Amino acid sequence: MIAVENLHRHFGGFRAVDGASLQIATGSITGLIGPNGAGKTTLFNVIAGRLPPTSGRVTMDGEEITGLPPHALFHKGLLRTFQIAHEFGSMSVRENLMMVPARQSGETLWNAWFRRGAVAAEERRLRDKADEVLEFLTISHLADEKASNISGGQKKLLELGRTMMVDAKIVFLDEVGAGVNRTLLNTIGDAIVRLNEERGYTFCVIEHDMDFIARLCNPVICMAEGKVLAEGTVEEVKNDERVIEAYLGT
Ligand code: ADP
Repeated sequence: MIAVENLHRHFGGFRAVDGASLQIATGSITGLIGPNGAGKTTLFNVIAGRLPPTSGRVTMDGEEITGLPPHALFHKGLLRTFQIAHEFGSMSVRENLMMVPARQSGETLWNAWFRRGAVAAEERRLRDKADEVLEFLTISHLADEKASNISGGQKKLLELGRTMMVDAKIVFLDEVGAGVNRTLLNTIGDAIVRLNEERGYTFCVIEHDMDFIARLCNPVICMAEGKVLAEGTVEEVKNDERVIEAYLGT
């Protein structure tokens, strides 16, 4: 589905991504691992249109998408989760979901609000959709809670929920497990598997928790120093000498 060819992203003279090439197969849950500073987040940001590449190419189903802005990628079904912005903290969990289709299509926040007020039927549709998403994620009880009041793990579920408000094809998840307790991490893992199996989502997941990666991901791609070091099953990658060396070297 996604092919990254010889991608570079330099910051001044520093090569954060240094000729990375990889593929993400349709229907996979691909894990991206590697020591801190390996270039994983930078690679995500380039694929998702947040950072222009220095050079190289990204294609989606054979079509070049290199450097397209996030809202153009959104229309193609390529989404990257992102943290709930400060200004949305005072809105309810449900409202945060209802805002997604308008926000990500490139409309300004104010347009979205005016449109929301003007079109009651659309509002009802979005509300029903949001409630369905919350039920899927087993957090219906949080619908009316202010987004700023929910826990870190619940916020991660909400971030995942946003991708369900639209027809996502591929979702890039950056460190879903960071600071999340085991129970919620399992809930997040279950939601990812169900979205993959029942709704055909493809995922690319950056994660440090190897248990989480082992449970969900095949294949796993390991990056170090801006390059792809190894790819295979979790076991293959974990036992790869170059991977072990890269982790020991940090
Ligand atoms: P990872 O996600 O694998 O930990 P990152 O992509 O966050 O790695 O970072 C790779 C390297 O690029 C790091 O050394 C980081 O300091 C550097 N880097 C990332 N973003 C910038 C930036 N905007 N300006 C300068 N250096 C950056």
